[in-house]
Amino acid sequence: MGCQGAWWRPGLPDRRHGGHEEPASREPAGAAVAELSEPRTYDTGVEHGQALLPEPPEMWSYSSLKEVESCPRRYVLSRADYPDLWDKHGYPRLPNPAAIKGDVVHGSLEVIVKALVKAGCLSTRAADAVAVLRDLGGYTAVAEAVLDEQLARLDGNPRISPGRREQLNRTLGEWVPEAREQIQTYLNRMELRSRAAGTHAVEGAPLDRPGKRYPAMEGDHPERELVAEALRLKGRVDLLSVEADGATITDFKTGGEDPTHHDQLRLYALLWNEDGEVNPDTLPAKALVAAYPSRDVPVTAPTAAELADLRGALAARTADADAAVREELPLALVGEHCGLCNVRGLCDAYWGTGTPNTADVPDSGWYDMQGTVVRQHGVKSWVLRETRSGKEVLLRTPNPSFTLPAGQDVRILGAKRTVDPDEEEALIASVTSASEVLTVTV
Ligand code: SF4
Repeated sequence: MGCQGAWWRPGLPDRRHGGHEEPASREPAGAAVAELSEPRTYDTGVEHGQALLPEPPEMWSYSSLKEVESCPRRYVLSRADYPDLWDKHGYPRLPNPAAIKGDVVHGSLEVIVKALVKAGCLSTRAADAVAVLRDLGGYTAVAEAVLDEQLARLDGNPRISPGRREQLNRTLGEWVPEAREQIQTYLNRMELRSRAAGTHAVEGAPLDRPGKRYPAMEGDHPERELVAEALRLKGRVDLLSVEADGATITDFKTGGEDPTHHDQLRLYALLWNEDGEVNPDTLPAKALVAAYPSRDVPVTAPTAAELADLRGALAARTADADAAVREELPLALVGEHCGLCNVRGLCDAYWGTGTPNTADVPDSGWYDMQGTVVRQHGVKSWVLRETRSGKEVLLRTPNPSFTLPAGQDVRILGAKRTVDPDEEEALIASVTSASEVLTVTV
């Protein structure tokens, strides 16, 4: 049975869906949205999968541009609304423990650096820093509080079972001592700059109040937003350090070293150059730093000519990104990245060409499969006819209460191939507590 999605523009209520975001990257609702008269709806072809599609955002960011460029379909389906599924924005995300860990380290650094800067401490080794950290409850308490915030975001997520949530809480709770060490390592080599009162200061300007945009004084500014209005680009710099002759931009990276991190820093240099509110004197970005857990990597700041080139390139990229999002059927770019795509269960292009046949998957390999449920085979097993190969596959299930809709097409995300040594030709797969089953409706 086919599973092609269908596009149409029904007479829906006048509900606009521009630019709402997944937690990972936030962009405000798009001005462009107002130009369109009709919202778009897309039936992804799975149960509860009717999507109300977004328009391009008012502002692009480095990560959202990268995402739309790698696959416009993923960008759009990730940010669509699914009113039959839940009442939050975007397609619910399966938790990625590595991403949550990165967010916890980032968030903890933000809390601590802000407190240190506010107290005028130049490093965690300063005498006053001890009192600041004590007031915060210590590194561990900060990390635990940020982790709790991250986990609370999973509340109400229909894709996470209570068992999975419990396991996640336990695993991440046990990781907190490691997070504490990582946070300390970053902070131990960080030298903050004192703020020179009056320099670039607006009379009475507060310390980096969220949501307020004003000139950056000399000193350190954690989590500072920079905006290039004309380019419709923005970014949040982990640490902006301003001196009389220019700024140093530091980005904390919790993963491995990657050349694309340099591109991101160069984009921040452009934003700093273009942001007339935060940088009214057009001070140069004199140093860029990718700060990894074990070392800082300096990145050469772009020259004026390089900034001009970058500006032109980014203007072209945002125009292309706008056009890609507005496509009637945003392009699906199937590739290796699909295996980690959060919306692959909804993507007909992926199920048409991106999934393997069970016979080609090695023993214990994880894969995604689609098939028609033929019959129950045993207390904990079912037979599916695989859509792509047309062959019958025995599907083992974790417990007797696990049932499948007989006669229906289903997509199984995260099936595990099993080769029986006594019957090597038999096509067998297992669903586990981490697998997800979607019912195909079209
Ligand atoms: S599965 Fe692949 S092609 Fe489909 S939306 Fe995701 S990344 Fe794009």
